[in-house]
Amino acid sequence: MKKLLLIALLGASAFPALSQPRRTTAPAPTPAPAPLRAIADEVSEANLRATVERLVRFGTRHTLSVRDHPTRGIGAALNWTEGQFRRFSRDCGGCLTIVRPSDTVTNRRIPTPTLVEDMIAIQRGTGDPNRVVIITGHIDSRVTDPMNATSDAPGANDDGSGTAAVIEAARVLSRHRFAGTIVYAALSGEEQGLNGGKILADYARAQGWRVEANLNNDIIGNSCGADGVCDDATVRVFSEGPRWQGHEDLAARQRSLGGENDAPGRNLSRFIDTLADQLSLGLNVRQVWRNDRFGRGGDHTEFLNAGFPAVRFSVAIENYDWQHQDLRTENGTVYGDTIDHMDFPYLRRVTQLNVAALAALARAPMPPEPTVRGGVSTDTTLTWADVRDAVGYMVRWRRTDGNNWEESRRVGPAVSVCGEPPPSHPCAPPLNQTTLRGVRVDDWVFGVSSVAADGSESPVASAVPGGAFRPYAPPPPPPAQ
Ligand SMILES: [Zn+2]
Repeated sequence: MKKLLLIALLGASAFPALSQPRRTTAPAPTPAPAPLRAIADEVSEANLRATVERLVRFGTRHTLSVRDHPTRGIGAALNWTEGQFRRFSRDCGGCLTIVRPSDTVTNRRIPTPTLVEDMIAIQRGTGDPNRVVIITGHIDSRVTDPMNATSDAPGANDDGSGTAAVIEAARVLSRHRFAGTIVYAALSGEEQGLNGGKILADYARAQGWRVEANLNNDIIGNSCGADGVCDDATVRVFSEGPRWQGHEDLAARQRSLGGENDAPGRNLSRFIDTLADQLSLGLNVRQVWRNDRFGRGGDHTEFLNAGFPAVRFSVAIENYDWQHQDLRTENGTVYGDTIDHMDFPYLRRVTQLNVAALAALARAPMPPEPTVRGGVSTDTTLTWADVRDAVGYMVRWRRTDGNNWEESRRVGPAVSVCGEPPPSHPCAPPLNQTTLRGVRVDDWVFGVSSVAADGSESPVASAVPGGAFRPYAPPPPPPAQ
């Protein structure tokens, strides 16, 4: 009886009068919800410039540089960043909690035990505070020799630009309220081995945070290369395909069921690409379907290692003469990461996209964790557990060689099935299910997103092994016979 009731209720809400999948054609992007564009427009180019100027004035922010000098070195830079977060928190009635996660690190680029500290501000969510989105940039800088902790290392673009985006995001978003928690993080130790990223990922795990996304910003403030090629209308978003965390267990399941292009980080990349189109900022996303630039790395990698979805933002055109270089002129070529090489209107657009993405993610519910079945069948069925604060879901699918979601169907909320009144036991958890008639599972990749009451939609989580927005855990072994 209860089962019948469940089916009847789902039949009313989850199976719209469609026998054939409906093609959604959207020649022009749907505009972003007005509040997102309005929030993005609060980002100030003047503030970004002032922050980078201030960071450069610390001389060097090398992780091994002086810690106790009032105006020079990594210590002074971290203290100044803390002061910014405290100022924003005062303005929002104490809405930010400021913490310095740290570790004492020794490695091939940190020869003696050294305290590596991150500076983070936590804006606790009002609805689902354990769901966390994190923006990161690295505050440490370097010159040609990664061990040189005393020469001037302005690090204007690498990564004063990302740190300025983090600080400006905190200023703008702390004036608003969100269901989920947002963490603003200036990391150190990046140039010495991604230490700050690992410290924060470990901290997130220790807090029990459900990290939905890490948006890492590293080198986001120039638009021209050494060869004169310029592009100030594109930002690259790097994402891993098969997820690294759990890959040994996943490999066999993904070979059978797919998922090579559907790690949660890849779906985060698709989400940001679509959002950029909707925002009309004059900034396109070029999704780069690899974890980072060729043979190089960044702090988001440590989040991915911990199983947290993460992407890296970086400029469309890097200038290799202006990063990791001693300040000098050689044969007429100017080397060094100085502020005069930066493009602040471009940095503003990239920061706007980050701020809108953080707001969109923190407003929307968590993505569902769908599963799909339909082998040797003419129909495909998706099933997923209800998601907190979701009032509906979007089932999406695309060709296996399609780069973004192509087809969609809206599915209404599930309805709990309770015992006869008065309920003698708690309601059964709602289960959502939809069947796509005439859609062969072999030829498509499927996913589902959650939709909140205000229309905010989460990223799509793909119905593939390892597709869920949480650390991967192998499925339990089948019960013994
Ligand atoms: Zn960097």
